[in-house]
Amino acid sequence: QLDIHPTGRHFLQIPGPSPVPDRILRAMSLPTIDHRGPEFAGLGLKVLSGIQQIFKTKHPVVIYPASGTGAWEAALLNTLSPGDHVLMYETGHFASLWNKMATKLGIATEFLAWEGRDEHLPNAGSWRRGVQAELIEARLRKDTEKKIKAVCVVHNETSTGVTSDIAAVRQAIDAAGHPALLMVDSISGLASADFRHDEWGVDVTVSGSQKGLMLPPGISFNALSPRALEASKSAKLPRAFFDWAEIVEMNKTGYWPYTPSTNLLYGLSEALDMVLGEGLENVFARHQRWAAGVRAGVNAWGLPIQCADPAVYSPVLTGVITPEGVDADALRKLIHERFDLSLGTGLGKLKGRMFRMGHLGDSNDLTLVAMVAGVEMGLKLAGVKLAGSGVQATMDHFAGHPAPLPRKN
Ligand code: PLP
Repeated sequence: QLDIHPTGRHFLQIPGPSPVPDRILRAMSLPTIDHRGPEFAGLGLKVLSGIQQIFKTKHPVVIYPASGTGAWEAALLNTLSPGDHVLMYETGHFASLWNKMATKLGIATEFLAWEGRDEHLPNAGSWRRGVQAELIEARLRKDTEKKIKAVCVVHNETSTGVTSDIAAVRQAIDAAGHPALLMVDSISGLASADFRHDEWGVDVTVSGSQKGLMLPPGISFNALSPRALEASKSAKLPRAFFDWAEIVEMNKTGYWPYTPSTNLLYGLSEALDMVLGEGLENVFARHQRWAAGVRAGVNAWGLPIQCADPAVYSPVLTGVITPEGVDADALRKLIHERFDLSLGTGLGKLKGRMFRMGHLGDSNDLTLVAMVAGVEMGLKLAGVKLAGSGVQATMDHFAGHPAPLPRKN
């Protein structure tokens, strides 16, 4: 038995956790400090104000030592009471999981979905499209007694590679003259796809560390609005650890009521310097450019993209539908074994029928060309007939659409 290991870097091309820049890993390796000591307040206040700029909000952002799922739960517990009616929208696996969680917590959810039939994946239902805001408006107009307390949608559906127009959802709620809160999961959208908490009238935005912020998993966020804070005063679902009130109060001085994830906060501080230093608009443009380059490759292969509406292609990941009879998970396994490249699996009802290519985190044109090359080699080894070379198309796209040159310090 030979002790052989892969050489070079593993290609972590799942749509989060994303590759973490060395700069962030180094920042996280500093010694842990006293979370009640004087030095800590500087770190706490810095990350709390920096993260507001990322969400584009002037209101409090709560940071939890939890994965995104914890922040989902926090959003529901702090704003709702047992038996409350909530409107959710089925964009994919993550919207479905949030809906399932709400049901477990004793919330009465209604799960809206696009009702059409899809040509490539007949069972895909609404898992290839973004939120249709008009369906939300129509449903809210019927709710004359204003029983619906919140509308919950996913901004960037990581299971499919489809984004949703959050401003349109806010307009739909307002057009219906409805007081429901708007809660948005931007776990995989934040710091990669355009997001504006205050301007879009979002009441709670849920996010996580391991996607656009390029941090390891482990911390997550609730960005609040004054209406959400008001609702939390009368919300009756039981909450303790996740209660916003005490955290928001202590955060005013840069501290937390419990032990925060100090070293992840070092990482967050570094990530904020990187993302805000580059400028959010540049970060969004960079992801759009990467996504267009990867899609050029997929289109050249002649394989359908999971997102059926080009207006809402995700800048974060691209879902690729495999031909009938080609098991996407067997393909992923082959690519992992042969080329040390991890791709996202098809989740829920998409299992085996698609795979996901992440284009976020510590990446660049050449790492993305390498990802496309790994997938192309895998597809050929799996016997898939390709219309053309995706690698060539991705290279042509990147060469033909130069990115702005980095500033020289
Ligand atoms: N929502 C979305 C859109 C996600 O992409 C994920 C994770 O990938 C989650 C929720 C769940 O977050 P976590 O796995 O960090 O608990």
